[in-house]
Amino acid sequence: MTTIFEKIIAGEIPGDIVYRDELVTAFRDIQPLAPTHVLIVPNKPIPTVNDLTDADEALAGRMLHVAARIAAQEGIAEDGYRLIINCNRNGGQEVYHLHMHLLGGRRMGRMVMPPQ
Ligand code: 5GP
Repeated sequence: MTTIFEKIIAGEIPGDIVYRDELVTAFRDIQPLAPTHVLIVPNKPIPTVNDLTDADEALAGRMLHVAARIAAQEGIAEDGYRLIINCNRNGGQEVYHLHMHLLGGRRMGRMVMPPQ
């Protein structure tokens, strides 16, 4: 099933794209939770982090490296930021196209909410 992120990557629906190369695309989250909230996604549709294979190691490394480069571009690298990958139901994943959240520009608070 095609996700909304595939359509953004393909240019079929608009996205505020901040970076693109042969492996990954990065665009601003439509409902930002911080002054900087960018999603770094593989160009190919990998549903979750569970679905990464040995062949995807360069891609996974690229996602991290691109996140750091965008943080520098956004001027948040020195103060710091948070990278999040949600996986499946307990992780709170909503869009089943692997993505890394880059959040910064404010203090992030506790790492996770305590159990409800
Ligand atoms: P998840 O909960 O799966 O880790 O995060 C999905 C993220 O995708 C959410 O932060 C949500 O705001 C974002 N999102 C959902 N639909 C769209 C969209 O159409 N465009 C953009 N740019 N972000 C979206």
